[in-house]
Amino acid sequence: MAGILERYRQFYDFGDNFPIISLEEGNTPLIPACNVGDAVMQKSGKTGLKVFLKFEGLNPTGSFKDRGMTYAVSRAVQEKHTHIICASTGNTSASAAAYGARAGLKTLIILPSGKVALGKLSQAILYGASIVEIDGNFDQALDIVRELGSTGKVCIVNSINPYRLQGQKTGAFEVCDVLGEAPDDLFIPVGNAGNITAYWMGFKEYADKGITQKRPRMNGYEAEGSAAIVFNRKIENPETLATAIRIGNPASWDGAVAARDESGGRIDSVTDDEIVAAYQFLAAREGVFCEPSSAASVAGLFKAAELGQVQDNATIVCVLTGNGLKDPDSAIKFGSPERAQLPADAGQVAEFFRL
Ligand SMILES: *Cc1c(COP(=O)(O)O)cnc(C)c1O
Repeated sequence: MAGILERYRQFYDFGDNFPIISLEEGNTPLIPACNVGDAVMQKSGKTGLKVFLKFEGLNPTGSFKDRGMTYAVSRAVQEKHTHIICASTGNTSASAAAYGARAGLKTLIILPSGKVALGKLSQAILYGASIVEIDGNFDQALDIVRELGSTGKVCIVNSINPYRLQGQKTGAFEVCDVLGEAPDDLFIPVGNAGNITAYWMGFKEYADKGITQKRPRMNGYEAEGSAAIVFNRKIENPETLATAIRIGNPASWDGAVAARDESGGRIDSVTDDEIVAAYQFLAAREGVFCEPSSAASVAGLFKAAELGQVQDNATIVCVLTGNGLKDPDSAIKFGSPERAQLPADAGQVAEFFRL
């Protein structure tokens, strides 16, 4: 199975001598989630709902960022850049470093110090990137990247690079290809708001080409402590344990608002407690291990159910943006407390398990 650029080649115009830098990204599973569906029906009193999880944590570096990075890095090579640069809450840097390594480019990374999950940092380090942690947040890191990018010496691979969103729209294509039609509702975490913008582009493109008959409502969820779009103002000091969406001034703000308004959807926020509850539910009830930020989509769906915002017989897709293995600290902190250290003794072990 080829990567997204080869599989969806007809939706792009690559020009001549286009080198595809790919790690066979995309083609991630759309997992039926009956237990989430039952909980949503119970909370809302609605019937006939079907819920699916688009598990983007199974991309080559463990997040959806790979869909955009394959295109951005391929273009960087085509345009003869030698260096790529990004600001990151973690996943963009892991992805950039991997594709940069594969393409033989130097990858430069700026991170908010102390706010990047360990798995993501370890990826960037082993892929061989050059890494600066700043005493500041993501938005400040992105400001520095914009400044360094304007010198022309480096190619920016954050989602302000339009090829990123062009690659990420294939997530929407895959959802439609598997369902045979667009879903009624998409639920998706919102950080820098690139992904909701990209999914909307993808759904519109399929509908415009007559491949699908309808477009989904786009429901984006920010973390309450970083909910710039919901509150309609920049957040100077964004806070949330969902570090991948800890962003106070989303670069694709306008794209997210357009997706919401054109689709009749909504942008709302979820609290850290709601995010953690969904994170635990997905792992303990569905066997799906995503990172906390990803669970904002399902937390949003649960919230919408409680507010009576879901409809009978709806087909609903929740995007799970990243893999839970990236953030072992959160898993250990919020996972099962049923653990013990015991001597190598069957009797004591049996007692602990209450057998
Ligand atoms: C990047 C990221 C997001 C946020 O996506 P945006 O395009 O910035 O809105 C959400 N979850 C995870 C795991 C991410 O890596």
